[in-house]
Amino acid sequence: MMIPNSFGLQARAKNCILINSLDDLSLLETIDDEILIIGAGTNVILNDYFDGTVIMVNMQEIEKVNGFISVGAGVPWADLIEYCLLNELYGIENLTHIPGSVGAAPVQNIGAYGVEISSFINNIECFNLKTKKPEMLSHNQCQFQYRDSIFKLKDFVILKVNFVFNKNFEPNLSYPALSEYLKDGSIDTSTITPRILSNSVRAIRDSKLPDPKMEPNVGSIFKNPLVKTNDFDHAFLDGHRWEQADGYTKLSAARLIELIKSELIIPDSLNFSKDHSLVLINNGGASFNEVINLLNQIQTMIFNKFKIQLEIEPEIVGL
Ligand SMILES: Cc1cc2nc3c(=O)[nH]c(=O)nc-3n(C[C@H](O)[C@H](O)[C@H](O)COP(=O)(O)OP(=O)(O)OC[C@H]3O[C@@H](n4cnc5c(N)ncnc54)[C@H](O)[C@@H]3O)c2cc1C
Repeated sequence: MMIPNSFGLQARAKNCILINSLDDLSLLETIDDEILIIGAGTNVILNDYFDGTVIMVNMQEIEKVNGFISVGAGVPWADLIEYCLLNELYGIENLTHIPGSVGAAPVQNIGAYGVEISSFINNIECFNLKTKKPEMLSHNQCQFQYRDSIFKLKDFVILKVNFVFNKNFEPNLSYPALSEYLKDGSIDTSTITPRILSNSVRAIRDSKLPDPKMEPNVGSIFKNPLVKTNDFDHAFLDGHRWEQADGYTKLSAARLIELIKSELIIPDSLNFSKDHSLVLINNGGASFNEVINLLNQIQTMIFNKFKIQLEIEPEIVGL
């Protein structure tokens, strides 16, 4: 089978298992080769052939269970945003228009415009690939951090995510790009509705991020690096750095790439988006090796120049 992916790489897998309901879990008990779990494929860079079994979770329910909103891993993220808007459930408006599935959202603890999904996750129903048994992980057991969680260890298939959303609408408008957009559009922040906030986030994203259907990409190709504030001059990357509470500063990976871009050797099959320097585009026909070579070239150059180790954001499969 071909593995779906928004970077437009031609990648095949030996086997595929589709989990449509809890009744299908027995299919996971017998797998004895390498495993790759795939949602919508918007955060993976894939090699040509995966010599193992791809697991896709297609559970599509959104239900109220014991005070939680229990959501199947196969639900498109956009559908959950719309469900919340229609049902007076608040908090994730800033995460509007992130592509992908609900099942993948906890894996890298998706975040945008000052909000991270971990704040709304109570627990997660999984299948433990080591013990071969279903398991419920509490919020704390998920070990959420910036673009990280226990799920990156790949021991768990996420089946359902149990959310608790806010009952009152308390918009988070503090992120600079968002507050500027609202100000420029004369949108009154004291009367803003969840729908207007969600539409505003969508409009900002549409103006900055290329649509993967038109220009194949996986969003940000590197994480914004966290450095110790005192290790760098306070004027370094002025306007492109965000001081954190704990003696660390987050730097703009996009800005770092802009600073070295003219020295990079970029193959014709790839280029960086004109609207966002952190978004790598497949112009058509890019190979896995071309992508990996370019990412390595950037990491080496940025380390040699600034002593900063950039971390790749999407999962690289088949290195
Ligand atoms: C244009 C664009 C913009 C983006 N913007 C953002 C953004 O603002 N913020 C952000 O955080 N991300 C962003 N992303 C990245 C991406 O949308 C998210 O990471 C999303 O959650 C990936 O969902 P997916 O279903 O496509 O996951 P996939 O790409 O299929 O998988 C991603 C990872 O999750 C694992 N996984 C998938 N499903 C499961 C499951 N059921 N159980 C266990 N593991 C699983 C996979 O093995 C893989 O490691 C963007 C991507 C694009 C293309």
